[in-house]
Amino acid sequence: PTPVITVDGPSGAGKGTLSALIAEKLGWHLLDSGAIYRVLAVAAMHHDLPVDDETSIVPLASGLDVSFETNIDSRRVVLEGEDVTDDIRTEEVGAAASQIASLARVREALLRRQRAFQQSPGLIADGRDMGTVVFPDANIKLFLTASAEARAERRYRQLKDKGLDVNIARLLTDIKARDERDANRSVAPLVPAEDAVMIDSTDLDINQVFDSAMEIINS
Ligand code: C5P
Repeated sequence: PTPVITVDGPSGAGKGTLSALIAEKLGWHLLDSGAIYRVLAVAAMHHDLPVDDETSIVPLASGLDVSFETNIDSRRVVLEGEDVTDDIRTEEVGAAASQIASLARVREALLRRQRAFQQSPGLIADGRDMGTVVFPDANIKLFLTASAEARAERRYRQLKDKGLDVNIARLLTDIKARDERDANRSVAPLVPAEDAVMIDSTDLDINQVFDSAMEIINS
């Protein structure tokens, strides 16, 4: 079967950047599973469906018309013909995605769509449950963590670069609250797979994280 490397962990640990670098290095496909939950949240908003209404979100998830268009220098996310690449990255959409992600039947409805990304020559799958639920037989499972403080600091710098003025204490409180929710939710709680290799990026820059990951992959 086509090889799969999973990259799971809490938000802000750097999974997205790491996964994109590995995919580029190996020339493999990339699944950003969080983007699927985010697109679904945007679709629910477009169609005026409440994000806690499992009965209406499940069919929306099954029929979701989304495509990921990868070019040399850009990755665009297209929903029902409309480019939503930037729209899905707001805090509001993130919060809605996280609510939608707590619906068991919605997660189930998205399984096949996610597994369809497993194509030759290989796949890097980025998310929360890639190694535990979606690709339990993955060849290599990475679990990327960082202290809540380090993640708040990175987020702070990202927002600042965008010209947004934010309160770092508030960011830290939000991150801790989300960690608590993600770890304790009844559906797909965020836990490392038993056979996952942990990488703690608290004191590492992205190059060091990438080097540790490649060392694990090549060993
Ligand atoms: O990683 P990202 O912030 O884009 O994910 C958005 C939300 O989708 C997360 O807060 C999380 O609740 C949910 N998610 C999930 N399982 C995944 C990926 C994302 O529950 N595999």
